[in-house]
Amino acid sequence: MALRPDEFYAQAVAAADDERRLPLARMTGWEISPFEPDGLRVSPLRPPVLPEPARHGEDPADCNACRNRDEGIWLNDHWRLARISRVGVPLVLMLYPRDHYDMADLPDELAAELGLLSTRIVRHIQALPHISRAHVYRIGDGGAHLHLWFFARPEGQAQLYGSWLVVWDDLLPEYPADVAEADAAIVAGALVTSHGGHLPQVGESPGVS
Ligand SMILES: [Zn+2]
Repeated sequence: MALRPDEFYAQAVAAADDERRLPLARMTGWEISPFEPDGLRVSPLRPPVLPEPARHGEDPADCNACRNRDEGIWLNDHWRLARISRVGVPLVLMLYPRDHYDMADLPDELAAELGLLSTRIVRHIQALPHISRAHVYRIGDGGAHLHLWFFARPEGQAQLYGSWLVVWDDLLPEYPADVAEADAAIVAGALVTSHGGHLPQVGESPGVS
C-alpha cells in the first residue's frame, strides 16, 4: 500500500536540510538541464494539503472543455484536437473527449479509440519537416476533463530531450504562430485521412487555446 500523506512527507523531509530543502539530484545534474547546478537550490518541501483543492471542471456544468466541445482544428463525434498558443516549441496540440470524462472513467470504446488516435497524431506530428519527436503527456492535476498533450520537439535541439522539454518550452520565446498554425492544419488534414472525422465546419471554430 502506498504511504499515507504524512508518512510520505516524513520520509521525504528526512532527506532534506533544516529548511526542508532537498539536495539537487539526477534531473538537475543532467547535462541538458536548463539550469546550471551552481547557485541553484530546491524549494522547501511543503507539508501535504488535505483535502486536495478541487480541479477545474469537477462539475461538468462549470467545465471549459465542455463549453468548448465544438472547438478544434479536427473533430469527430467523440474527440476534438486543439492547438495551444503562446508556446516555445514548434507545436503543442491537445486532445479532448467531447463529452465530460476523465481518463479513469473513459468508456472502453473511447479508450480503444484513444489508443488509435494518439498513435496517429504522433505519427502525423513526427512526419512534419524539422520535428524529431512528439511527446505525449496526460497529467490531469489541473483539469477534471481528460486532456492529452502532444509536444513537438524541434529537430536537432538535443537539450530539449525528455521531461525537461516542458520547462524549456516555458523558457523559450514564443514560436511563430503562423508556422504553428500551418503545421497544425497539416496534422489535422492527415488525421482526416487516417482516422476520419473532419476539419471545423460551420458553427465550429479552430479555437486556439
Ligand atoms: Zn468537461
